[in-house]
Amino acid sequence: MADHVRDDDVELYVLGRLTADVADAIDDHVRHCGKCCDAIQAAASSLSTRNRALRKGRNDEERRLESRTLTEEAGLLQVLQPLSLKRLAVTISNASGKGLGLRVAEHLDAGGLVQIRTRHAVLLAEVRYCIKAGGEFLAGVQVEKISDTPEGRT
Ligand SMILES: [Zn+2]
Repeated sequence: MADHVRDDDVELYVLGRLTADVADAIDDHVRHCGKCCDAIQAAASSLSTRNRALRKGRNDEERRLESRTLTEEAGLLQVLQPLSLKRLAVTISNASGKGLGLRVAEHLDAGGLVQIRTRHAVLLAEVRYCIKAGGEFLAGVQVEKISDTPEGRT
């Protein structure tokens, strides 16, 4: 397999800022490379923790989140910790402050870190709970970091 994933790319992967080609290449690589798999999980933890520490006294990201019409928005979810290469279709059923309610087809483990890509943003969030509801699951997540998609930054 090719070289290990570069540190910069690990962080951009977690933030959802890589082009699909590069992200796909990383997916292929981490299937066989525990070292890079660990690096992505560590970056997800560190970005989420770092943001938590920075958040004291700052809530501009929360306001941005609320001002966006995320409700009923469809997106794609990837579990970053424990790392999964699956992308699950997700619908945001409600948004309040830092919390989001999601409808998702598969169970998510509480405490896991997930990346949620919507049309407007890429969110890094921690799963607080997940309950079965009919044929799907309802999950509550706390948003730890919001990273604009490249399209949204122009
Ligand atoms: Zn590697």
